[in-house]
Amino acid sequence: MEETTDILIVGAGISGLATALALHRLGIRSLVLESSDTLRAAGIAFTTWTNAWRALDALGIADSLRQQHGQLFGIYTSSTVTGNLTSHVSFTNKGTYGDHEVRCVKRKALLEALAKELPNDTIRYSSKLVSIEDLGFLKLVHLADGSTLKTKVLLGCDGVTSVVAKWLGFKQPSLTGRSAIRGCAYYHKGHDFEPNFQQFVGNGVRYGIVPCDDNAVYWFFTWSPSPQENRQLLEADQQKLKQFVLSKLGKVPKQIRAVIEDTNVQEIVRSPLGYRPPLEILFGNISKDNVCVLGDACHPMTPDLGQGGCSALEDGVILARCLGDAFFVSNQHSGFENDDEYTYERIKIGLNNYAKTRRWRGFELISTGYWLGWIQEFDLFGMRFLRDNFLSVFLSGLFLKKADVDPKELKL
Ligand SMILES: Cc1cc2nc3c(=O)[nH]c(=O)nc-3n(C[C@H](O)[C@H](O)[C@H](O)COP(=O)(O)OP(=O)(O)OC[C@H]3O[C@@H](n4cnc5c(N)ncnc54)[C@H](O)[C@@H]3O)c2cc1C
Repeated sequence: MEETTDILIVGAGISGLATALALHRLGIRSLVLESSDTLRAAGIAFTTWTNAWRALDALGIADSLRQQHGQLFGIYTSSTVTGNLTSHVSFTNKGTYGDHEVRCVKRKALLEALAKELPNDTIRYSSKLVSIEDLGFLKLVHLADGSTLKTKVLLGCDGVTSVVAKWLGFKQPSLTGRSAIRGCAYYHKGHDFEPNFQQFVGNGVRYGIVPCDDNAVYWFFTWSPSPQENRQLLEADQQKLKQFVLSKLGKVPKQIRAVIEDTNVQEIVRSPLGYRPPLEILFGNISKDNVCVLGDACHPMTPDLGQGGCSALEDGVILARCLGDAFFVSNQHSGFENDDEYTYERIKIGLNNYAKTRRWRGFELISTGYWLGWIQEFDLFGMRFLRDNFLSVFLSGLFLKKADVDPKELKL
C-alpha cells in the first residue's frame, strides 16, 4: 500500500529543517525528503541577523549555537579604492523591538542543530522529488527512484531549482549577471580579528570578512564578471578563483588579504547570483490548495542583505504556526460532513494565511537586496562619491533595519 503522510517537506536545507522542527515543537509530525545522501551544507557559513536569532529562540536551539559562534559588535565599511573607512555602524544600538544580535554561523552546525532535535526517522535521504499529482484532498508525489507517497500537505523547501515552485507556476529565478566566491580560513591556534563584520566596497566589487568563532574566519566576494572574466573563470579550479579574488582586492590591510591567502582551496566555492523578480512574489502563488513554498524555493534573493537564510528561518516558524491551527481544530461544529474535506479546507486557510504574511516580506527583502547590491557595485557617474561620502552609514544600517522583526511574529 502507498504510504500517506500528514505533512511532507521537500528539502532538508535551512527552511525545510526549520519548518520540520517548528512543527515538531507544536506536536505535529512531518516527513522531510532530501535528494542528497546526507545534510548539504553548501556555502560554508553565513551571517545571521537579529530576526534569525529570534526565530532560533522560538525553535529552542539558539543557545547551543550561541555557544559555538561569537557575537559581532559592528560593521566597518571601507573603500577598496582609497583604503579609507567610509562608515561604522554599531550592532549594540537598540532596534525598535530590542537588542540586536549578529553572528556568523557555520551552515553545517546550524543544519545539524536543527536535525538533532527532530525525531529519528524524520529525514529521508536520497529521496528526490520529481513530480506532483493532484489526488482529491491529497497530493501524490513521485520520487526519482520510482516510489510514490501521498500527503495531506506538501511544503516545497527545495531551494532555487524548486520542483514545487514550478508546480505552483513560478518561473526559474532570474540571473543577475553577478557572481559570488566564498571561502573560510581556519586558524588552529586562533586568529586576531576583533568580533566585527568588515566590508570593502569599490571598483565594482564588494567583499567581507566575518569571524565565526575563535578559529574560523569566513569571507565572501561579489562582483559582475565581464564577458572575458566569465570565459576565464568558466572552467577555473578553486586555486584560480582564489588568485582572481586576490587580484581584485584593491587597497586593503595585509591582515584582510591574509585571510584569503590562508584559505585552503577546497574551502572555496563560486555561485551565480539569482533572484525572483519581486512582482512575481507579489502576484504569484506562494500557496495553492494544500501546497506552498518556503525559503529559496519561494523568495530567492541576492545575498547583499544577508537575509536569504535568516528569512527562511522566519518562514519555518510562521508556517508552522499557521498550519498548527489546521490540525488542532475539531470538525464538530464546522458544517462539513467529511473530516478529510474539513482538514483540507483548514489546511488551505492556514497556507493562505502564511502566503499573505510572507508576500510583502519577500518582496521587501528581494527588492532591497537587489538595489543594495547594485549601489555597492556600481561605480560610475558619481555613484562612488555619493556612496562613500553620504550613503555608506544608511546602506550598512539597512542590515539591522531589515532584521528587526517583531519577536511576537516569531513566536510559536
Ligand atoms: C553567496 C551567497 C551568500 C549568502 N549569504 C547569506 C547570508 O549571509 N545570510 C543569509 O541569511 N543568507 C545568505 N545566503 C542565502 C542562503 O544561503 C539561502 O537563502 C538559504 O540557504 C536557503 O535555504 P533553503 O533551505 O531555502 O534552500 P537550500 O539551502 O538550497 O536547501 C534546499 C535543500 O533541498 C534539497 N533539494 C533540492 N531539490 C530537491 C528535490 N527535488 N527533492 C528533494 N530534495 C531537494 C537540496 O539538496 C537542499 O538540501 C547566501 C547565498 C549566497 C548564494
